[in-house]
Amino acid sequence: MYFVDRCVVCDSGTLARWPAVTSPFVAEIAQWPAPVRCCLAECATCGHRFFDLRLDDAEMGKLYGRYRGDDYFATRHRWEPWYTRAVNDGIGHDPAEIALRRGYVLDFLRKHLPPKVFSGAVLDYGGDKGQFIPPELGAEKYVYEVSDQPPAEGVARLTDKESLQRGFDLVMLCHVLEHMSEPYKFLRELNVRAGWMYAEVPLERPRLLKLHADGASRGAPAAWIPRARPLWLGLDFYSTIFRVKLGLLPPLAPIKLHEHLNFFSRASLRKLFERAGFSVEACEEGAVAGASGISGVVKLLARSSA
Ligand SMILES: [Zn+2]
Repeated sequence: MYFVDRCVVCDSGTLARWPAVTSPFVAEIAQWPAPVRCCLAECATCGHRFFDLRLDDAEMGKLYGRYRGDDYFATRHRWEPWYTRAVNDGIGHDPAEIALRRGYVLDFLRKHLPPKVFSGAVLDYGGDKGQFIPPELGAEKYVYEVSDQPPAEGVARLTDKESLQRGFDLVMLCHVLEHMSEPYKFLRELNVRAGWMYAEVPLERPRLLKLHADGASRGAPAAWIPRARPLWLGLDFYSTIFRVKLGLLPPLAPIKLHEHLNFFSRASLRKLFERAGFSVEACEEGAVAGASGISGVVKLLARSSA
């Protein structure tokens, strides 16, 4: 782990901070002795929210190497009993969710993308099996994915970076950037030849009623959490209910570094792409009413300005 003192999107040093702690399940997977205290930061310049604790490459490998596998599920379920096997196995594979996501991606692209791009080659970067690519999009469909899942019908799986050099008319980057420790570096170094890029991130910006933090205890272990699991589960449940149902975090609710390290606004997602050298053509927030309630996403369409 490491800590940052500047905005990971725009590099501003003017940040507000709130006290936070890493989830015990993340601490266990990363093999830390206890959850670690950190801060949730908000940039005064671009509005980006992010945890000042970032995961290094080895820790990212541990978390995402066997993502949603048996060990991951067992560890997470022990610390989040409401994270059930059905939730774990259903994420990304529920036909209703797939249809919903394909639908709003298609609507957005039909509004903003030149029609001729629809018949080109499309790549979903980090897109699991490629199941989220709308059928109407791309005469050729590809997914870049390091896990060895069989791709969806009509989708070819690419596994090595060299194969990304063939060039694509459209690259989809959906629900990837919120997990990245270094989103700006990732975009700068994303060596994919693409005409257009569609990016999508969840909109997760609860109102924070908590007091600001000075960051003095940053990096200290929260050793009480493993010793008082029932108390932690109660606090975490209370925090999760307020965040999910009411969109706010009351003073006693812990802010937990979970999986997402970045919480983009429309402004901060746009800033990230502009700073990384893209020309942003459209950026919208949208509410998504799915089986699990209403959530939000930020959608962006950009082209390489080079
Ligand atoms: Zn910023």
